[in-house]
Amino acid sequence: AHLNRIAAVDRDVHAFLHVASEAARATAEAIDKRRAAGERLGPLAGVPIAIKDVLCTIDMPSTAGSKILQGWVPPYDATVVRKLRDADLVPLGKTNMDEFAMGSSTEHSAYGPTHNPWDLERIPGGSGGGSAAAVAAFEAPLALGSDTGGSIRQPAALTGSVGVKPTYGGVSRYGAIALASSLDQVGPVSRTVLDAALLHDVIGGHDPRDSTSLTDTWPSFAAAARSGAENRSLKGLKIGIVKELQGDGFQSGVTRRFEEAVALLTEAGADVVEVSTPSFEYAISAYYLILPAEASSNLAKFDSVRFGLRVNPVGGGTVEDVMSATREAGFGDEVKRRIILGTYALSAGYYDAYYGSAQKVRTLIQRDFARVFSDVDVLVSPSAPTTAFKLGEKLEDPLAMYLNDLTTIPANLAGVPGISLPVGLAPEDGLPVGIQFMAPARQDARLYSLGATLE
Ligand code: GLN
Repeated sequence: AHLNRIAAVDRDVHAFLHVASEAARATAEAIDKRRAAGERLGPLAGVPIAIKDVLCTIDMPSTAGSKILQGWVPPYDATVVRKLRDADLVPLGKTNMDEFAMGSSTEHSAYGPTHNPWDLERIPGGSGGGSAAAVAAFEAPLALGSDTGGSIRQPAALTGSVGVKPTYGGVSRYGAIALASSLDQVGPVSRTVLDAALLHDVIGGHDPRDSTSLTDTWPSFAAAARSGAENRSLKGLKIGIVKELQGDGFQSGVTRRFEEAVALLTEAGADVVEVSTPSFEYAISAYYLILPAEASSNLAKFDSVRFGLRVNPVGGGTVEDVMSATREAGFGDEVKRRIILGTYALSAGYYDAYYGSAQKVRTLIQRDFARVFSDVDVLVSPSAPTTAFKLGEKLEDPLAMYLNDLTTIPANLAGVPGISLPVGLAPEDGLPVGIQFMAPARQDARLYSLGATLE
């Protein structure tokens, strides 16, 4: 049914870069047979899933939305992909994304933009717009995304889906093509909180192949979601509205739906207070130095020798000429912009002024989180300042594009988990609005139980 749905709508939505029809059918049939033979299978066995193209898959091309990796089929599966297969989910294909996950609209994909299923003239958010659009357009019930500065939560919000950025280190990054290694986290996109929790249970946990993977034993997130849905009470929970992540610059319909949702929290028995995190004001500035710095280093491996594309300059040339011609042809404008920014910020003489300062701001943001979390259990804000904007609207204005990440970036800089849930449509444009909750590191279960209560 999902393959039929993809065949019917994906020409318009363009959520997928690759659809693995035959493999998906074969996997599904094999699982059906085992089930018919009486084998006891896991809770998500047979459930189709879409996979963001930033994740390495041994049987499908993995391009990260870039021309430099066009047609590249990795020699191994990302750990999360391996875990999906072990749990008998059915990979449907690979989803579109901004090139190397740099962007907030999926317009920076080298393979053309994804369209928002709610209004095809609009962007689905980014960088994981393909995963969110696939879920919202009923092309897949579940998807995997990656969130470095909001790329799971913001597209979820803009498409009326649920999206979770786990605690940093909670889900393996092995085989996730790196954008900024100290910020990247893989996580679920779904239509309900319980679905996201079930998927998180499958993909989470320690991985010796990821040096920043936590060794914690995690509780069942599905159990947390189920208990939230049953209890329907937030008594005893203290929730802080983040003063810095609302107000001026937020679309009126976003603010209205956000305030209504906050009223529901109070009705459900939560103690809701306002908290202030003054250094969040500098989060975007710090992020857009730290991210390009790490990205420029991570992208150095695309050197025309080891991966994907190789362009030979006319008339031949040195190894460096080949490398330079390949990177010139293989990388898009946004990627080049960030490589230039990153190498500049890291260069001798500028390191302290830019990268060093940004790291100090990151510490201040982490301290802000620690301070407010000593008083409240969970933080709340809108997931994004606006609803889905029109294709092309912010494409020529990188700064306007970056500002859309205002609400999601702080969680990545501090490594804390965040969830975005749909809270209705903005009255002025009829487009989905998301609410974001953030919890202290390792308290992902709290978000699932709270999310399921509100749902
Ligand atoms: N929009 C952010 C950026 O462009 C988020 C990226 C991400 O989370 N992958 O960097």
